Amino acid sequence: MTARTAIVTGAARGIGAATARRLAADGHAVAVLDLVEEQARATADAITAAGGRAVAVAADVADEDAAAAAVERVAAELGPPQILVNNAGILRDNLLFKMTAADWDAVLGVHLRGAFLMSRAVQASMVESGWGRIVNLSSTSALGNRGQANYAAAKAGMQGLTKTLAIELGRFGITANAVAPGFIETEMTRATAERIGVPFEDFLAHAAAEAPVGRVGRPEDVAAAVAFFCSEDAGFISGQVLYVAGGPKA
Ligand code: NAP
Repeated sequence: MTARTAIVTGAARGIGAATARRLAADGHAVAVLDLVEEQARATADAITAAGGRAVAVAADVADEDAAAAAVERVAAELGPPQILVNNAGILRDNLLFKMTAADWDAVLGVHLRGAFLMSRAVQASMVESGWGRIVNLSSTSALGNRGQANYAAAKAGMQGLTKTLAIELGRFGITANAVAPGFIETEMTRATAERIGVPFEDFLAHAAAEAPVGRVGRPEDVAAAVAFFCSEDAGFISGQVLYVAGGPKA
């Protein structure tokens, strides 16, 4: 496989960290981007210790200048980025009548504005090299989920963004696809269990019982799907949404 430079956002932990490790294991140099450099460094150090190439980059993907500066730094330190995984995310769940405008803006800002800003910042180096892979993290919540008007709208938006990037960028050798996970065991789902007052083990057991495969997902399950879309072999697959949910629906 040709070694490329990859950027994974929100890669300090969870699905992003597993994806960064997986892309590094596949031979790519990886920029581990997250809000706090020290936390991103833990993932980058683990990759380096395993023989891979990685740097930690601190940036808020929702900040236009920070996103552009992060991409410039990656290009200078690892080479022009040709793979982008828009994974950074937050939750601000609440029923519609209690959801504040600030909670709406924060979630749309990180997921959707962040993916837009990062994609716009990397497209130039992808176009120039005639090869690129963009993978956006959507969710089964894109199909609608109680208490997640903001998150569901953002994750459905990621799918529309993905399909449009595929249409606009395809002629430059760039594909754009979305991976839509179901229930994955991470800090994000742990926080949801805490918020609704259910012990995490019970929350996991319930989700596992609901899934046709009889278990919850692991970050590595999602990383494998992302890695496939980033591979040379996936060059004729673009604008697709792959549900990684242990079954056909949420
Ligand atoms: P996670 O454990 O909460 O990790 C998300 C990471 O994103 C954190 O390290 C977080 O940093 C970082 N982040 C948040 N805001 C950021 C910003 N503005 N700029 C840069 N980084 C930022 O989440 P996860 O469960 O791994 O989820 C990863 C992605 O998969 C998200 O897009 C999520 O919506 C999606 N997803 C997850 C599940 C699931 O079941 N876990 C299901 C479907 C989709 P801080 O810790 O500093 O906030």
